[in-house]
This record gives sequence, structure tokens and C-alpha cells, in this order.
Amino acid sequence: MKASAFSYARATSVANALELLGAHGDRAKVLSGGQSLMPAMNLRLISPELIVDIGELAELRGIAVNGGTLRIGALTRHVDLQRSPEVAAHAPLLTEAIAHVAHPAIRNRGTIGGSLAHADPASELPACMVALSATIIVRSPKGERRIAAGDFFRGIYETALSPDELLMAVELPVGRTNSAHFFHEFARRHGDYAIAGLAAQAMVNGDAFTDLRLAFFAVGDRPVLAKAANQLVNLSISPAVLSEASAALAEELDPQEDLQASASMRRHLAKVLMRRCVATLLGRADLDAGGFA
Ligand SMILES: Cc1cc2nc3c(=O)[nH]c(=O)nc-3n(C[C@H](O)[C@H](O)[C@H](O)COP(=O)(O)OP(=O)(O)OC[C@H]3O[C@@H](n4cnc5c(N)ncnc54)[C@H](O)[C@@H]3O)c2cc1C
Repeated sequence: MKASAFSYARATSVANALELLGAHGDRAKVLSGGQSLMPAMNLRLISPELIVDIGELAELRGIAVNGGTLRIGALTRHVDLQRSPEVAAHAPLLTEAIAHVAHPAIRNRGTIGGSLAHADPASELPACMVALSATIIVRSPKGERRIAAGDFFRGIYETALSPDELLMAVELPVGRTNSAHFFHEFARRHGDYAIAGLAAQAMVNGDAFTDLRLAFFAVGDRPVLAKAANQLVNLSISPAVLSEASAALAEELDPQEDLQASASMRRHLAKVLMRRCVATLLGRADLDAGGFA
């Protein structure tokens, strides 16, 4: 199938892009890497009247560390994240996660801004943003807003962005000592969207977590920051403690059922991910020895 007829404008500046979005409202769509927008248009899931191509806007590109913040421009491509020494040094969770986003051809064009604005609940990057306590910076003709990642994702393909807003960049806090991360997803083939996945960021002191952010994806309508993780902080974790947290996680999740997996399968996979994450980050193989779920 082909997309419905549409007009195309190449934005010459951020101000120009905002002017176009302001004038056309929800009849316009921003084009970044086109890896999600174009398939959706070709399938006629959406039929915008105007495409605003922001691909030439250099100020939306780039990765920089300023003081305690890593700033990543919205047009930064997946492949740039994957190869960035700054990201590897300050947000290794992202470096690890990005290898699971689709395939090289898609990573060569897809952008972080596009992935976050698209808000597929099975996507890796939204969950990483939640785990990393990112701030998402958006701009409209009325000014700039800074939105905590946890408040940005509102549902399946739904975010806090309004039609006249452009996602400009994300900022991640860096420089925490004793930080550790874990990433894993279950997918039919490497590069497929996940059936269930976990992006985790933690602070470890000796044999205990002092902070544990478990952001699950593909198990709800948006990334889920598990409240059950609080049961694993500031205490020595025994198999019984982990079992209780695991049960609380299963209660907390409300996964969708689809052709890939039932809701109970997704709950089970999430519990497996939690157990593996805790065992790996604490170096406690005994916690992942099986026998409890
Ligand atoms: C075969 C295939 C497999 C894939 N597998 C995965 C996968 O495993 N995991 C995964 O996470 N993704 C996957 N993707 C999606 C891919 O990562 C996309 O690149 C990404 O989701 C969108 O980025 P983009 O730059 O291409 O955005 P676009 O397609 O250009 O835009 C996507 C949406 O975001 C909006 N948008 C884009 N940029 C902005 C902005 N700066 N401000 C406001 N709105 C904006 C657009 O209007 C559109 O609604 C896959 C895609 C394909 C085709």
C-alpha cells in the first residue's frame, strides 16, 4: 500500500519547524529517521496532510557532557548512540540496549527523538529513559518544557507531546558512584521487538542495593517502573525476599496478550528478568538458581 497524498516541507531552522507545526496542528507530522512514520503512513494507519522534515537541523544532533548531565540531541541516530564513547562511559545501559533495537539498516536512520516520540511500549529506549531518570526537553512556539521520562509516556504510541511541540533533546544525570546496570530482553529473533524486556539502573553498596530502578517494557501500555523494586533496597536479599518481590511484581503488572505471548507468559518472563537482574548486579548466582519464581 502507498501513503495518502501529503505535502512536504523541509524545515530550515527549529523556529521554522515550530512555525509549521503551530500552523498545521495535528494535521502535520514531524519526520526524523522515517523508520516508524513511513511504515505507518504506507499502511494508512495515519494520513498527515503535511510532513515537516527536521533532518537538516544540526542543532538537534549531538551528544555532550556538561557538568553532571549527558545531553543527547533528538536527531542523534541509534548508530551514533551505539558508537558514542560519551554514552559508553556515562550511560552504558544505553550502549547495551541499542544493539537490540532493530537491525543496522534501521539503526542507521532511526533517531532517539523519533523512538521516544513514537512511544512503542515494546521499544527499548523509552524504558532506558525511565530507568536512567532522564528529562525530555520539548519546545513549542510557546516555549520549552522539561518533562520527566516517567511522565512523558502516556500509553500505546501516546506521549505528553502536543502536536505543536518538537522533541529537542534528552538529558541524563551522570557521575553517580557505585552505579550498575542490567539490560535483557526476550525476543523471537535478535532485533525483533521484545516480548518482554528489562532496563535497570542501580546503586550497589557492598551486598545491597541503595537504589534500584527496574523499567520493564513490552509488559504494559508504556514502560513500567516497578514499585516491587523498593522491596529489594537497603537490605540483604535472600531467596525468600526475592520471591516476595517477584510476587509483588506479578501483581503490579497488567501485560497485554497478543500473538507473541499471553499475559501470564509475560508476567512469568518479567519475574525471570527481575531475578536475573538482581542476581547479576549483586554477583549472587544463588538468587538465580531456580526453584522459586
Ligand atoms: C523493521 C523494523 C524493526 C524495528 N525494530 C525496533 C525495535 O526492535 N525496537 C525499537 O525500539 N524500535 C524498532 N523499530 C523502530 C525504529 O527504532 C525507529 O527508528 C524509531 O522508532 C523511530 O525513529 P525515527 O527517527 O525513524 O522516527 P520517525 O519514523 O521519523 O518518527 C516516528 C514518530 O515520532 C515523531 N517524531 C519524530 N521525531 C520527532 C521529534 N523530534 N519531535 C516530535 N515528534 C517526533 C514522528 O512524527 C512520528 O510520529 C523498528 C523499525 C522497523 C522498520
